[in-house]
Amino acid sequence: MPKTMKAVQVSKPGANFEVVERPVPEPGRNQVRIKVEACGICHSDVLVKEGHWPYGLEYPRVPGHEIAGRIDAIGSEVSLWRPGQRVGVGWHGGHCFICDPCRRGNFINCRNEKITAIHFDGGYAEYLIAPAEAVAAIPDALSAPEAAPLLCAGITVFNALRNAEAQAGDTVAVQGIGGLGHLGVQYARQMGFHTIAIGRGGDKAALAKKLGAHEYIDTAAGAPADALQKLGGADLILATAPDSKSISALVNGLGPNGKLLVVGASFEPLSISPIQLIAGSRKVAGWASGTGKDSEETMAFSALAGVRPMIEEYPLEKASEAYDQMISGRARFRVVLTMS
Ligand SMILES: [Zn+2]
Ligand SMILES: [Zn+2]
Repeated sequence: MPKTMKAVQVSKPGANFEVVERPVPEPGRNQVRIKVEACGICHSDVLVKEGHWPYGLEYPRVPGHEIAGRIDAIGSEVSLWRPGQRVGVGWHGGHCFICDPCRRGNFINCRNEKITAIHFDGGYAEYLIAPAEAVAAIPDALSAPEAAPLLCAGITVFNALRNAEAQAGDTVAVQGIGGLGHLGVQYARQMGFHTIAIGRGGDKAALAKKLGAHEYIDTAAGAPADALQKLGGADLILATAPDSKSISALVNGLGPNGKLLVVGASFEPLSISPIQLIAGSRKVAGWASGTGKDSEETMAFSALAGVRPMIEEYPLEKASEAYDQMISGRARFRVVLTMS
């Protein structure tokens, strides 16, 4: 067992990534140590890199909340996991079990929620420590680099879609064909929805169809809300690209009782009039990620239905280059660090 490990840390808000040697951490009573095999780079890693959120975030911090690897050691009170198991950890990094939402089983809204790589060090490292309740089993059919993006991008869209009250055959539009959207289109198709992909530019039509979309709407070719109405109106629009102007422009494409469900995170207000909501009894809602069990079900469904992320792999040491590729928007579609 090595005494030290390679990790990539940010020493203060706005600082460059540093490759450092750190002691291999020991798990506490209810924690596991995971030997990381792959870690996805998510746009939310910007929060740690630039110190945007939350207030009081402690540095140095190791980013990364799309972690796939293998359990390496367990704490004395861990009964659910054993060394050698293939597991992942996502954004939701644990809960307290005793606050009111937890007592109702609503762990994702725990008042003392821990977020991976915000409240403890994340997966841009050879090892990490995670609370046992945050861990998800990875099915054999998925490699570690394939599993990693499913632990944030994947679970976010999968869990949003399966909790959205849409039924088989309903019309579901997925706005944005990027990191979240390219998975959202696949899930929507595999869940049995009439699946419409919405993107900018005619060049994405072929990809959208390949991912499983029945229809493609090019926002550059005309008002996308009109195009949605021509297709009968959407029962559900899953907004994955964090562009509030483009999202707001879709509301009139909702059919009666249709729902706009936002998962692409931004601080920009949406612009929606009360009349738009009242006419047709429309709804607007958001959805955040899920628990370890939700991650596990996301990966199990992906294995079952053949849903896979499109990824670009970089070695851990090239985290800085990999992050730049993600930030540039050139990545098709998720960037994943791999450990040698
Ligand atoms: Zn994320
Ligand atoms: Zn709680």
